[in-house]
Amino acid sequence: MSEPNASATASLAEEAAKLDAADELRAKRADFVLDDTIYLDGNSLGALPAAVPARLADVVAREWGQLRIRSWEESGWWTAPERIGDRVGRIVGAAPGQVVVGDSTSVNVFKALVGGVRIVQGRPAGRDAGDAVRDEILVDESTFPTDGYIAESAARLTGCTLRPVPAPEMAAAVGPRTAVALVNHVDYRTGRLHDLPGTTAAGHAAGALVVWDLCHSAGALPVGLDAHGVDLAVGCTYKYLNGGPGSPAYLYVAHEHQPRFDSPLPGWNSHADPFGMAPAYTPADGAVRGRVGTPDILSMLALEAALDVWDGVSTAAVRAKSLALTDFFLRCVEAYVPAGRVESVTPAAHERRGSQIALRCADAGEVMAELIRRGVVGDFRRPDVLRFGFTPLYTGFADTERAARVLAAVLAGEPGAPGGVA
Ligand SMILES: *Cc1c(COP(=O)(O)O)cnc(C)c1O
Repeated sequence: MSEPNASATASLAEEAAKLDAADELRAKRADFVLDDTIYLDGNSLGALPAAVPARLADVVAREWGQLRIRSWEESGWWTAPERIGDRVGRIVGAAPGQVVVGDSTSVNVFKALVGGVRIVQGRPAGRDAGDAVRDEILVDESTFPTDGYIAESAARLTGCTLRPVPAPEMAAAVGPRTAVALVNHVDYRTGRLHDLPGTTAAGHAAGALVVWDLCHSAGALPVGLDAHGVDLAVGCTYKYLNGGPGSPAYLYVAHEHQPRFDSPLPGWNSHADPFGMAPAYTPADGAVRGRVGTPDILSMLALEAALDVWDGVSTAAVRAKSLALTDFFLRCVEAYVPAGRVESVTPAAHERRGSQIALRCADAGEVMAELIRRGVVGDFRRPDVLRFGFTPLYTGFADTERAARVLAAVLAGEPGAPGGVA
């Protein structure tokens, strides 16, 4: 790494302008509410799509305020979880009828894990690749904490032991005792992309199911759930899907598993005849089986409006731009940041990289606070990681170059003016 100099800055800034001019997704930025802040935290909370406020106001004032109870039917509230599930499904490569929106990711991890163990343990003997006793859940060792906590509880409830395994070794670790493996598609801290096709295939070869957490991949890259024969998956909608704070999560249960998916949270909304009010539970068929109770309609319909920005967008184009942005950011950091001040912990190889760059840095907490003061918003993950998320629908190359320039100035101890909100 070299000291930033005027000519490097000018040439990278020029290159950024050219890349922005050639960017086929550039016009999408206008679909979001943004200001002069360089917002690189869409991997934690996506920016607000511009169509959402008016739609939400209509939901509140007309659908709730005027139609009241009629809206469950007339405004399509009752079927929203499956309708919006199909729209999320298009983004993660799931054919209609397999994704249901609702609850949080944490809750859906629980449904998927316990439901997955029940499918495996309930299989007729002789169908599995191994012996009959499958009493082990494997979990991604560096998982986002909530997945690990829920997995521990799911293991206790199902009489399984829980074994943490580094995600890259998961394919080798699944064995004859494994019921289910839970893996994060992209690591929330390092931005490392894990091998979904290979790990899923290895799980199947060992007679196990694999549950994928797509929180950091959905909306950032093509996932291909159906194409890769994924069993079960969950994810949130407030990161790269821009659904808003606390917007409902989703659960994918592949068609082939739906008849044997026995939810550990069988609420009335997943009953075959919810208004029959029967004392005994009979599960509905299909994705509806993943529902629990009354859906959070306001958040759900905000998410539905937010998903309009995906109309006509290919996830392949999103992926290409994501990789171009993160490559360009790394080049700018290399050119501008004083040598030795940061070290990328995100894999350089494209096939192992999600849509964020994580830089290890001494004093990362103070550095990020100063970046935010100067109008570059990423986040800090303890103890020493600066995270920068790149959302291809609204992040540009000029933003990326400027973020690296401000980072270099902060790290070099140069004074800087507050920036951002216009
Ligand atoms: C963001 C994230 C979550 C969030 O779970 P909530 O229940 O929505 O709080 C869970 N898992 C992973 C891997 C995440 O990145």
